[in-house]
Amino acid sequence: MSIVVSLLRQPRLMCHHIVTCRSSSSLINTPEKEISFADHRTAYAHLSRTEILRAWIVLKLCSFDFLLQNSLKVLEHSQRVLGRGLLEKILRPTLYDQFVAGDDPQSLKETANKLKKVGIKLMILPSLEEDVGQKSDENRYNSNVEVTLQLAEIAYHHGGPLSCLQTKITALISADLLLKLAERNRDKEDQFRTISSWANYMAGGLLAPVSYLDKTENIELEKGLERLKSVGAFASGLQLRLLVDGEFTYLNQAISIAALSMAGAFNQSRPVVWNTYQCYLKDAFEKICSELEITQRMGVGFGAKIVRGAYLERERQLSVEGNYPDPTNPSYEATSDVYDRVVEYLLEEVVRSGGQRCNVIVASHNEKSVLKALTKMRSLGISPKDNTVVFGQIYGMASNITVKLASEGYIVYNSVPYGSLFDVLPYLSRRATENRAVLKGTRRERTLLARELRARFLGF
Ligand SMILES: Cc1cc2nc3c(=O)[nH]c(=O)nc-3n(C[C@H](O)[C@H](O)[C@H](O)COP(=O)(O)OP(=O)(O)OC[C@H]3O[C@@H](n4cnc5c(N)ncnc54)[C@H](O)[C@@H]3O)c2cc1C
Repeated sequence: MSIVVSLLRQPRLMCHHIVTCRSSSSLINTPEKEISFADHRTAYAHLSRTEILRAWIVLKLCSFDFLLQNSLKVLEHSQRVLGRGLLEKILRPTLYDQFVAGDDPQSLKETANKLKKVGIKLMILPSLEEDVGQKSDENRYNSNVEVTLQLAEIAYHHGGPLSCLQTKITALISADLLLKLAERNRDKEDQFRTISSWANYMAGGLLAPVSYLDKTENIELEKGLERLKSVGAFASGLQLRLLVDGEFTYLNQAISIAALSMAGAFNQSRPVVWNTYQCYLKDAFEKICSELEITQRMGVGFGAKIVRGAYLERERQLSVEGNYPDPTNPSYEATSDVYDRVVEYLLEEVVRSGGQRCNVIVASHNEKSVLKALTKMRSLGISPKDNTVVFGQIYGMASNITVKLASEGYIVYNSVPYGSLFDVLPYLSRRATENRAVLKGTRRERTLLARELRARFLGF
């Protein structure tokens, strides 16, 4: 209760902050009307007082750098001290409910229905991944396929055709093998040959053994491609959008090869398999142009998830340790410039390609970038109803953007993890460490949450 009182005592400060935000970035004059992301009544109408208070507390905790940087250690330590039972009692109604959709079909259904009421679609995020050196066995990869197919069915069940499912290539094929393939496919024409050969295999053709892989690795590759094929074919059958996540630069080349081969096999009539483009990378724009060209050469659709990128600090650290040039942009402003330029270019491509051959998701919590995308959509005459340009935010964050966009008729997804508390939390804490920049930047959202609480408790 003392937290509520302290929240309610800050009205002047909060009003000042909102006025500042409104006059700078959150309000834009468009030819048709103004969209304001400061509308807390719309943003939180679907949440109870308790949920709003929880969101404020959790986002406040997430703004502490120490907790974000050490979240996995804090989690492990708390489990030792408190035991799993007590820890679950604390974390389930707080951190877990704030960021996770649930751990069974019923709880997922409740989350989906709650979001549906305010026009938000689910983008399920399986908590599956692997890094170099953590090689899983075949059973693990096969079980990851099962989980992915189940989640694809759930996504379809709740959202029908064009529902989104995120996937990580490293959950389906060994990261070590991907690394080896990336090193051997640096040249553009080599990449195209590999992509065409894998696409052909996934479309039912034969796979020629790869000369630089030994017999075991060739078998491993074929099994991996078989898994990519199962997931791609299933998503295509249900008319889903399968969004392949971008990971670390040392794996991204091979991830792109895998994603584009899936696109070659399954994007014949429209983009089913989409790749992710991280705009904090210096070469983001060139990468998009090059991959777009590859899909055009194959005569298939192109789908792109545009993000700023989650692994900034680690990328920089790796470049220092490995003594190679930093692959990331030198500043936040440079990343934002690339982000907005990439979105603008792809929206023009949506129009150039006649609509359904190019689809884009603007995955960002940045109001300016979202507003720029909206302005560009309007100037190009792209209607939200075309379902070619959509938006995405992480579940539990930036409701002021997500709900407002949905209320204006835009197609918006919430990326939401699904799984049991002790499976999902380590995954979430890794994501929290990686997404520190976003979590630390939730001040404005906390202000809006506080405003809404004040309105509900005091009526103004
Ligand atoms: C639906 C969805 C899917 C996602 N999928 C992926 C994915 O597949 N792969 C992935 O990596 N991330 C993914 N993300 C996470 C995404 O990258 C982060 O949410 C994003 O980086 C935060 O940027 P923003 O546009 O929301 O906000 P902002 O808060 O405006 O931007 C913060 C970002 O700016 C960049 N940045 C910050 N400081 C600097 C600096 N000094 N120099 C250069 N750049 C800087 C970093 O990328 C940082 O994360 C996804 C997010 C969503 C919503």
